Parts: sequence; C-alpha cells; structure tokens
Amino acid sequence: AIDVQDLHKSFGDNEVLKGIDFHVGHGQVVCVIGPSGSGKSTLLRCVNLLETPTRGKIFVEGAEITDPDADVDKLRARIGMVFQQFNLFPHMTVLRNLTIAQEKVKGRKKDEAVEVARATLAKVGLAEKESAYPAHLSGGQSQRVAIARALSMSPDMMLFDEPTSALDPELVGDVLAVMKDLASEGMTMMVVTHEMGFAREVGDKLVFMDDGVIMEEGDPREVLAAPRHERTQSFLSKVL
Ligand code: ATP
Ligand code: MG
Repeated sequence: AIDVQDLHKSFGDNEVLKGIDFHVGHGQVVCVIGPSGSGKSTLLRCVNLLETPTRGKIFVEGAEITDPDADVDKLRARIGMVFQQFNLFPHMTVLRNLTIAQEKVKGRKKDEAVEVARATLAKVGLAEKESAYPAHLSGGQSQRVAIARALSMSPDMMLFDEPTSALDPELVGDVLAVMKDLASEGMTMMVVTHEMGFAREVGDKLVFMDDGVIMEEGDPREVLAAPRHERTQSFLSKVL
C-alpha cells in the first residue's frame, strides 16, 4: 500500500505539488490523469524518491520513506518504475538488462538472476528475445522488456508513467495486456495514463490532477461517465 499525506513539492519558486493526499490499497490499481504540467510525473517521482518532497509524508507498506533516517535504497528496491522512454541499457542484451540490477542491488547470484529474468521475460511474452539488443526491438517489445526488468526485482508495487505514450498505436495493446495481467495477479499499481479504456476496465480508482492538486477522484467508471468538476469535464472532453 501507498499513503501520501499533504505532499508538497517545489522547484525553486514553482510549487508543483500543492498538498496531495491519497491512498493506494494493497493490490489496487490507481490511474492518474490530468493536463500536461499538472504534476503527475513529479508525484510518481516523489513516491519512489527520485524527487525529494518539500513537505509531507509518504508511507510504503506502512514504512515512512520520507523519514530522513529511512533506508532509501532498500525502500526504492521495493518499488518498480516504468517510464515513457524505456531507458534500457543499449549495450547490454535483454537478459543482461534484466539481471544486472538483481545482482548489484538485490545481491542475487548470477544463476538465480538468470532464472528470474527468464521467467519474467516469458511472462511478458518475450522469452525468445533474451539475446537481442534493445536496438533490435520494437517500441512495444522494449517497453515489455522494461516492465520485465522492473518485475525481475520482485517489487511490492509498480509505478508507470505514461508507459504507452511513446508507442505506435498498434503496439499499445500488447503493453496494456501485460499491465492488465499484472493487475489481475494482484500487483499494487499507480499508472499515469491517457488510456481511458484501461482506466475504466482495470483501474480501481481514477485520480484527476490539475495544477498540483487532486481535483477529483473516484471509481473510474463514475468519474469518466459523470465528472463532477468542470475542470475534469473539460479535460475529458479533450481526451475521450
Ligand atoms: P506531462 O503530462 O507533460 O508529463 P506532468 O503532469 O507529468 O506533465 P510534471 O512533469 O510533473 O507534469 O511537471 C510539473 C511541473 O513541474 C512543470 O511545470 C515542470 O516544468 C516542473 N518540473 C518538473 N520537474 C522539474 C525539475 N526537475 N526542475 C524544475 N521544474 C520541474
Ligand atoms: Mg509527466
């Protein structure tokens, strides 16, 4: 579970997050939508401490990660993150992309890391690509490798920042299918996405952010069918 309490984040004079509170329960999928610049990526980056919050608290599985004495590396290893750009290591094979952090961060032996990597690649439908280099993969395959790489670290939860936004439309479905499988297996997930079909079908909660605050949140089907706030309505009328 993730609990965020009164989260603020400023870059210089620019307050980007202006007091965010929310909860992601164990096994829940929370989708986050909102206009460009509303703070969605900053919120995700705060949750795994890629950014340091200016104020407020974040708890992951009950442990306060914003505590100055927290073991940040250990906590971060429990949270998998997938970005719009796949960020694979270009000079390493797919298999090595999946084993290196397991060995260096998790301290797994090579054999074990390879075994986990192969099982995870099979799960995303790319077992046959283990010897390929990232340059020889399609965007959809690259993103599935990036998901597999995060999963091979055995995270407690996964954060996705617009994982399909850089993909050709015909490749989006494969990636969403992998995410849907993951959700049905009970993974706790926070997903910034403009894929409203995914939010409606897979999301337990939909959060609409605007200008650094949560304007509206609720059951995705309800929010999408009958948004309460005018800002939500106007945003949805542009993306739906
Ligand atoms: P998009 O839909 O375009 O991805 P977003 O909702 O993810 O937008 P953020 O990337 O969180 O928005 O950015 C929110 C605001 O914070 C923007 O005004 C951005 O310029 C600013 N910002 C983000 N990261 C930094 C940074 N490292 N330094 C300074 N300003 C930043
Ligand atoms: Mg963003």
